[in-house]
Amino acid sequence: MAQLRDLPSVHELLEDPRGRLLAAEHGRPLVLFAVQRALERERQEGMVAESGRRWADVEDQIQALRRPRLRPVINATGVILHTNLGRAPLSPEAAAAVARVATRYSNLELDLRTGKRGTRHDLVSDLLCHLTGAESAAVVNNCAAATLLMLAALAKGKEVVVSRGELVEIGGAFRMPDVMRLSGARMVEVGTTNRTRVEDYQAAITPRTAAILKVHASNFKVVGFTESPQLPALASLAHAHGLLLLEDLGSGALLDTGEAGLASEPTIQQSLEAGVDLVACSGDKLLGGPQAGLLLGKTSLVAQALRHPLARAVRVDKMTLAALAATLDLYLRQAPTPVPVWEMLRSTPADLAARARQLAERLVAAGVPAETRESTSTAGGGSLPGEQLPTTVVAIIATRLTPARLIDRLRAQDPPVIARIEADRAVLDPRTILPDEDEPLLRAVIAAVR
Ligand SMILES: *Cc1c(COP(=O)(O)O)cnc(C)c1O
Repeated sequence: MAQLRDLPSVHELLEDPRGRLLAAEHGRPLVLFAVQRALERERQEGMVAESGRRWADVEDQIQALRRPRLRPVINATGVILHTNLGRAPLSPEAAAAVARVATRYSNLELDLRTGKRGTRHDLVSDLLCHLTGAESAAVVNNCAAATLLMLAALAKGKEVVVSRGELVEIGGAFRMPDVMRLSGARMVEVGTTNRTRVEDYQAAITPRTAAILKVHASNFKVVGFTESPQLPALASLAHAHGLLLLEDLGSGALLDTGEAGLASEPTIQQSLEAGVDLVACSGDKLLGGPQAGLLLGKTSLVAQALRHPLARAVRVDKMTLAALAATLDLYLRQAPTPVPVWEMLRSTPADLAARARQLAERLVAAGVPAETRESTSTAGGGSLPGEQLPTTVVAIIATRLTPARLIDRLRAQDPPVIARIEADRAVLDPRTILPDEDEPLLRAVIAAVR
């Protein structure tokens, strides 16, 4: 049997006629990478492959290396803002706007009227201000960056009063006490986990206090014996003492989720109207746009944030701004379903049931036993915690596969289908399956069950 020391060198393989042919077709760096991987595998398995098998493996490695890394998947989980699946899918309008500027030069920082230098924030700030009632607006990389920048620019070296009920962890190690420390602001905790009153905030104010911070409890709910002051009361308190009222609002809703028959997630407009001086929120949660963080509020405060050196470190690129502007345009035009996220939130139980029935019937017709079941979808992504959105799912009755195995096989399709297990069946929730995904979804399910 061939010994590992008989393995050819990378150089020998690249100089082999077969290697040269592959390099001519795919490029030498890629073939080098694939050859290294193929040899590494032989080394790890402790056996030397026969030449034909080795070249077949090299070709497989080339295909694997060339497969797009970030690819579309079908979200059949029913979790609308699924963080692992990229949160909000963009509207076609926003995607087209990105494509228009991506391959060309643009007026990113050029005022086309004057020919002078402009700022990238001006591209969208009038739209944001009109939609939210803010005096001024800026866009950064995400809500975490917006919050960090807000605190660093406005409260560094000073005290910021925050309720113990709002020292939240958003996930991915974004914990409010850590963000506060990182910003250089000193956190002063008041109240208790379940109850904090205006007097608690008042008692904590000292000459070193810069601001009161409200943090939206995006991803959890405290129920029972709870109390927290309304924003207008906190605004009065802050302003009476010459302090700022800042808010990390999270999901960034421009529309009232209450109108979609859900619990009301606070909107940006409500916060500003209630007297918050500067709001930080996300662009890709309930706003349904690209990953971004928005800072909205008083002109002097937005300007102060933008002058801070961190602003450069967290600034957004042209593609984000293009997508955000196009998304905001849909809200301005009051498009009936402004963005896919809202289309999904507003899907009616009757429509979802009809769609589930249709999918199930087509699966059954193709020889895949399936049935519909009532179930619930969720908003996800730290929005509308605990809110259950009634839906109807398609349960796949695969007799030869365990549900877990079926989930794996669905994920291995092209495009991958991400489903969930419920009551011992793999289920597909039509709420998050985009309108043009029915055909690829059916193909994937049929292939996975076979
Ligand atoms: C989601 C969220 C964040 C983080 O937002 P990103 O856009 O993911 O950075 C921060 N604060 C609150 C309250 C949130 O809900």
